[in-house]
Amino acid sequence: MGSKIVMLGMMGAGKGTQAKKLSRHTGLPHISTGDMFRQAAAEGTPLGLKVKKIMEEGGLVSDDTVVEIVKERLDREDAQKGFILDGFPRTVNQAEEFAKFENIDIVFYLVISEQEAVKRLRGRRQCVGCKKQFNVYLDGDITDECPLCGGKIVQRADDKEDTVKERIKNYLKQTKPLIEYYDRQGILREIAAEGSIEDIFKNIIGALDL
Ligand code: AMP
Repeated sequence: MGSKIVMLGMMGAGKGTQAKKLSRHTGLPHISTGDMFRQAAAEGTPLGLKVKKIMEEGGLVSDDTVVEIVKERLDREDAQKGFILDGFPRTVNQAEEFAKFENIDIVFYLVISEQEAVKRLRGRRQCVGCKKQFNVYLDGDITDECPLCGGKIVQRADDKEDTVKERIKNYLKQTKPLIEYYDRQGILREIAAEGSIEDIFKNIIGALDL
């Protein structure tokens, strides 16, 4: 079983949700570059100040910056046996730079339509405290207060309508070519990602055991 895993797919495809489940299942760390940037922005670190505006506008952080933080993160003890990357690589250039210091075993490509992605992002909410995600289309009425920790539930700044359009444009232009890149290497596994969270997860596990 491969333990160096990349989750690929359009924003809203469920990469984060499935990566978290897979992390619990395998014990491998879930590493999300988006989460790392959001945390840095919230803490106001030099990295955070650099990326905050880019993220709010739905742009992509420079390849050099992303590759550097991923490299640092993967050097840590908990990532030595493997990892689940979510949100990285996002450009062919990032993947090529990455390949200079890591070999990937398997890439899960979660497939959803653009229409479904827009709907999911529009409905996505997150607790600022425990980071639990909700979706108004799946979870029904959502209050302002997190039922798990009491934290405030908000919409991610980059899930607002205009920013979503910019992110999808960037995805189609910059990230989609990665699918072919990994397919050529024979490590891409396509997973239909419009069903229930549990069914999608079963398919992922199934493909992992192949
Ligand atoms: P995500 O949570 O994966 O949607 O990431 C949120 C935002 O962080 C993105 O819209 C980008 O601005 C930035 N980001 C995350 N990962 C990367 C990456 N690999 N390359 C460039 N920008 C990234």
